[in-house]
Amino acid sequence: MKKIIFFLVLPLVFFSQQKQNSKKNFAIVVHGGAGTILKKNMSDELEKAYKEKLEEAMQAGYDTLSRGGTSTDAVIVTIKILEDSPLFNAGRGSVFTADGKNEMDASIMDGKTLKAGAVAGVRTVKNPITAALCVMQRSEHVMMVGTGAEKFAKSCNCEFADTSYFFEQKRWDQLQKIKQTEKTELDHGYNYNKDSVYKDYKFGTVGVVALDQFGDLAAGTSTGGMTNKKYGRVGDSPIIGAGTYANNKTCGVSCTGHGEYFMRSVVAYDVSALMEYKKMSVKDAANEVVMKKLKEMGGEGGLIAMDRKGNITMPFNTEGMYRAYMKSTGEKTLLIYK
Ligand code: ASP
Repeated sequence: MKKIIFFLVLPLVFFSQQKQNSKKNFAIVVHGGAGTILKKNMSDELEKAYKEKLEEAMQAGYDTLSRGGTSTDAVIVTIKILEDSPLFNAGRGSVFTADGKNEMDASIMDGKTLKAGAVAGVRTVKNPITAALCVMQRSEHVMMVGTGAEKFAKSCNCEFADTSYFFEQKRWDQLQKIKQTEKTELDHGYNYNKDSVYKDYKFGTVGVVALDQFGDLAAGTSTGGMTNKKYGRVGDSPIIGAGTYANNKTCGVSCTGHGEYFMRSVVAYDVSALMEYKKMSVKDAANEVVMKKLKEMGGEGGLIAMDRKGNITMPFNTEGMYRAYMKSTGEKTLLIYK
């Protein structure tokens, strides 16, 4: 009898062990913008607030992955939390255009299907990343802009908010200051930070790359763009291949920095292409693009990237970049400065 029970139980133990082994590692990497972020200009309180919000958002994405959610789910959950926080230049608290409006851009890409969705210049979608998801999942298009994108987002029941919801006094003050110089400014750019009035208040574009338990990558980016940008200007963040890219064959990428340079260098796709055609590692490919190509052109910024094995890299050529990652292997980090 004992022998029979033993032989009945053995395969069960074996198969559950097999299942355990086939469960893939998962990971998430997040950024909250790059720029002249210096410790000496940062108050302890603000640093704590940034860290807590990044941690909260990353943890929510990680929990989604841990429950068996897809990498796309994790990107959305994480970015929504950062968009809802006025600390970051995305969703609520986005920077202002030259004519004093918030025009937001967002994009998402699924590395398994190579499907992508993006919106640009939206003004009343509470979470622009959800409108990008709507374009990816419910339309035959990749990118929609302005009122058309908003109209379409309604068909996905995206939440909407009055334009006043996005208003943040400090962003408004930042616009008034920059207007005097006639410059377009990264929300955490040099001119902005060296100004003592605002030196302790910085914020940024947000982005996420996730790898789920099925081994699939996804990447997303959301931003208010650059302060004092011309009305109608679109940056790299919603451009697939420039600010966002994901491909299971190579990696997932989300960028932050001076959008015009990132578009002209096709940064996110360039990292993927170096991996695909030159067989570079994710680290070497991202370094090549951010520290050499972009730098030589004068393009300030950085990116987060992850390959299918969960290797993560977060290079930037500015003073700092809000960045963090968490892996199912237990590895975890959260950094701001160089
Ligand atoms: N890349 C964004 C843009 O140019 C700005 C940023 O990353 O902060 O719109």
